[in-house]
Amino acid sequence: MENLPKGFRYSKSLGQNFLIDTSVPCKIAAAADVSGCNVLEIGPGSGALTRELLPLVKKLLAIETDARLISVLQSEFAAETNFSLIKADAMRADLSALCDEYFGTDEPVKVCANLPYAITTPILTKLIEAKRFSSITVMIQREVAARICAKANTPDYGAYSLFAQYHTSPERHFDVAPDAFYPVPKVTSTVITLSPREVPENPRLFRIIKSAFAQRRKTLANALSAGLQIPKDVTVGALKVLGYNANTRGEVLSLADFLRLGEYLAVSINP
Ligand code: SAM
Repeated sequence: MENLPKGFRYSKSLGQNFLIDTSVPCKIAAAADVSGCNVLEIGPGSGALTRELLPLVKKLLAIETDARLISVLQSEFAAETNFSLIKADAMRADLSALCDEYFGTDEPVKVCANLPYAITTPILTKLIEAKRFSSITVMIQREVAARICAKANTPDYGAYSLFAQYHTSPERHFDVAPDAFYPVPKVTSTVITLSPREVPENPRLFRIIKSAFAQRRKTLANALSAGLQIPKDVTVGALKVLGYNANTRGEVLSLADFLRLGEYLAVSINP
């Protein structure tokens, strides 16, 4: 990080833990499979991953919110013809529109980023819901990666696992220890790739999932009845069709089970 100005104060709220282990960026680029691709990088920081990506990709669009880093990145990468840098808050920016403008409307775009911890889940949700990216490879907290990849009946499984697994196929690549970063974070990181699946919008499914996990101490039959405002005998009947009893808990049902439950309850609840 020799390119940072002397006395640079790392922002905790912007999740500024920069990669200092030089072996990690090339492993992330390999996991993202970026050769010859258009790539969106969120939070390039002082350029550790950007430096690795640029020689490999067709074009790279980087979005950084910290003005101090914009000048650092511009002075290092300004001469690169396949590079564009935008100062923006990735949570507020219209990422699809920015990609359409820079890469072209019909051009596939992959995301490759070391995400700031504070916005991991909201930014991932935004990237998934944008339906603009052909793959999303990100370094995030190990705990969040575990939730995203968790299967039914495991401690990390919940509503976010189902959201991620309905829209994408998640793949866990490798862990990165805290000492690969400066400043050293308190948590271990994990690199994952989310490959989008072609699935229809399914608001009913997510109403059911939200109700199922909203009150974890309740049985599933009670949680669904309360959350969806339908009689308990309907939810008990639906669970019975799936082969579960009234005392089952939400954590037991797989995504396939929730999809079947959605079909069965379709007549009883609004979409
Ligand atoms: N890519 C660099 C690396 O691996 O060393 C830096 C990663 S650091 C974990 C996260 C970066 O995201 C920081 O540079 C931070 O300023 C930037 N950032 C934080 N919030 C952001 C936001 N809402 N939009 C865009 N960039 C953001």
